[in-house]
Amino acid sequence: PLVLGIESSCDETGVGIVRGRTLLANVVSSSMDEHARFGGVIPEIASRAHLDALVPTLREALDRAGVGLADLDALAVTSGPGLAGALMVGVAAAKALAVATGKPLYAVNHLVAHVSVGVLEDSGTEGFRGGFDDGLPRDLGALLVSGGHTEILAVDDLSRDVRLLGATIDDAAGEAYDKVARVLGLDYPGGPAIDAAARSGDPTAFRFPRGLTAGKYLGSAERPGPHRYDFSFSGLKTAVARVVEAHEAEGRAVPVADVAASFQEAVADVVTRKAVLACTEQGLGTLLLGGGVAANSRLRELTAERCAAHGIELVVPQLSLCTDNGAMVAALAARVVAEGREPSGLGFAADSSLPVTTVSV
Ligand code: ATP
Ligand code: MG
Ligand code: FE
Repeated sequence: PLVLGIESSCDETGVGIVRGRTLLANVVSSSMDEHARFGGVIPEIASRAHLDALVPTLREALDRAGVGLADLDALAVTSGPGLAGALMVGVAAAKALAVATGKPLYAVNHLVAHVSVGVLEDSGTEGFRGGFDDGLPRDLGALLVSGGHTEILAVDDLSRDVRLLGATIDDAAGEAYDKVARVLGLDYPGGPAIDAAARSGDPTAFRFPRGLTAGKYLGSAERPGPHRYDFSFSGLKTAVARVVEAHEAEGRAVPVADVAASFQEAVADVVTRKAVLACTEQGLGTLLLGGGVAANSRLRELTAERCAAHGIELVVPQLSLCTDNGAMVAALAARVVAEGREPSGLGFAADSSLPVTTVSV
């Protein structure tokens, strides 16, 4: 089916068009720069930016794909999880399009959509590539790390059966990067800035905490602890702040590169350790890495190293498909449509905390 997907759950306005597994267009407009002086995404600003960007983004996607609205078999939109006000802009636009065109509308889950890019194939025109060579593996796990999410999923059936194995109990990994960058006086977004600063630093200079890895949280394979696959980054963030404060109090220069490298090592270590643990114990032979933090050089390196050591096949879609985009929404909806499922109608609402078990509304 020819499907157009709209994404507006955070600070990216995305419109993607797919024909089955083939990606025809993926146009993204980000309001990231407008949030820079605040050091994090401001919901109100994101919502307004979506209003400005949606129609131009939609037009450009249709142009690039060389299709008209009348050609589409279905429309799709992210209805959650995400920022309520931001989601509402995409949902309202999608409903208006559905009314105007008479096309069926499918509301899908943002997190599951992140995983679905793995099925996409190169269209030859856009040059995009998902990652799964022949369809979706059965024993699939996903590690999603972004500014708003840090989750480990078990994807038993992409279009209907997804389980949440673990999640952050406080900050998301990307959020920790952004906050730590601020403490270190680095630019927003913090991820790329810390990644760059870390290159000249010593990752063993400071031993920062690996959240929720103590025995009482992990338990054992037989008796799993309450947070065996969960994450926590608030202790790590505080530990970095302490080091910076201590240097400042003593009038010493903060060793930015060493702190950045040590912080990055702590995040990569704990994230990959728990993802590999979940895959091994839950019998997941393939791991998809997604979200904006998937751009992190150390995380990529360590994930590859540890997956290889445990016989887990690692799939990292290209970065434009890892960060928020409309193609992932269209890709997931295309599977739902192909299965002959009913459309969502026009009665659904944006749901900022839509559970991962609800693949489509
Ligand atoms: P969502 O959480 O809904 O996916 P988001 O907009 O918060 O949305 P993304 O746009 O996917 O998330 O990713 C942005 C995050 O990724 C930011 O927190 C940014 O600091 C982080 N990031 C980007 N590049 C890197 C990098 N090289 N290393 C670490 N983190 C990075
Ligand atoms: Mg973003
Ligand atoms: Fe996302």
